[in-house]
Amino acid sequence: MKALTFASAWNVDLADVPDLHVIGDDDVVVDIAYCGICGTDLGIVSGAYPVAVPGVTLGHEASGIVAEVGAGVTTIAPGDRVVINPTPYCGRCRMCRTGRINHCVGKHGTESGVSYDGAFAGRYRTTSAFVHRVPDHVPLRAAALTEPLSCVVTGVRKIQPASLAMNTYVIGAGPLGLLYAWMLSLKGLTPTVVERSPARLDFARDRLPAGSRAVASLSDADDLDIVVDTTSHFLEELLPRMAPGGTFMSIGLKERVAAIDTMLIGDRSLNIIGSIDSLHGSFEEAFHLIVSGRVPAERLISHTVPLADYRKGFAALGCDIDARSVGAAPEASCKVLLMPGEHGA
Ligand SMILES: [Zn+2]
Ligand SMILES: [Zn+2]
Repeated sequence: MKALTFASAWNVDLADVPDLHVIGDDDVVVDIAYCGICGTDLGIVSGAYPVAVPGVTLGHEASGIVAEVGAGVTTIAPGDRVVINPTPYCGRCRMCRTGRINHCVGKHGTESGVSYDGAFAGRYRTTSAFVHRVPDHVPLRAAALTEPLSCVVTGVRKIQPASLAMNTYVIGAGPLGLLYAWMLSLKGLTPTVVERSPARLDFARDRLPAGSRAVASLSDADDLDIVVDTTSHFLEELLPRMAPGGTFMSIGLKERVAAIDTMLIGDRSLNIIGSIDSLHGSFEEAFHLIVSGRVPAERLISHTVPLADYRKGFAALGCDIDARSVGAAPEASCKVLLMPGEHGA
């Protein structure tokens, strides 16, 4: 089968690797239908987020059709349409035992698409607890957004607004920015999305929850109560503008050093918080929100590209693998899905 494998920054290749089959009794092997390109993947490929193990198959936001199950699997059968939870945890390390499974140190080797072979491939192998059956009425395309939405569920749980009238802003209209807008809206807030790329702004405008709007920049008059920065770029600039009791959440994974006045944090009762990954049922919650139609995941997909054309998929997000450069997205792009096989539905 084909698999998008990582060697080092900018050195990724569509390699021929052996087909995967079940090994253990609890194994499930999935024929991948769709796997989304994540900001993490852009960071790995471009070298900005150096976390991947050389030789690994990338990709962690996937859905597909079960091909094989181990002898002990009773909950899932070949032919089932499933979404994959790519974030196992050991349950034994100090992080897991103290309520922080998203920082499990025992999962090294099982972080899909980073240190364990991921789903930019014809097949993916996992265990039965980490696949969920997708109802017939839900497209596998939409189900592929469960993992990024799960990360957003984790983050939104940490935002505890003093009032639902708080002025709320999301910086960046990529997939996470739009998913944050939807989740903050479900929480009762009315977020404004700020996006400087005209193409992305256009794409976002008719994909926002009721009452929300998308603008090209913050104005000096904006009174900032809650800011979710998906870009890593705005802490230094915006912290002095945060209203007392405000919350600045930073979820970007771009290295960026900021100089901030620590006095402001105490004097204005500010919260500066971060968030990553799935935590405590967030994956199941995200899956429910997609299955029930509360979050219109499928509408956030801008491109669906065959795996063989992965360079086009990355390029649509501003990551030009041939030129080894990362820039602004050249077109209206949001969630880009790669399609390894013929199982699209
Ligand atoms: Zn992701
Ligand atoms: Zn652990």
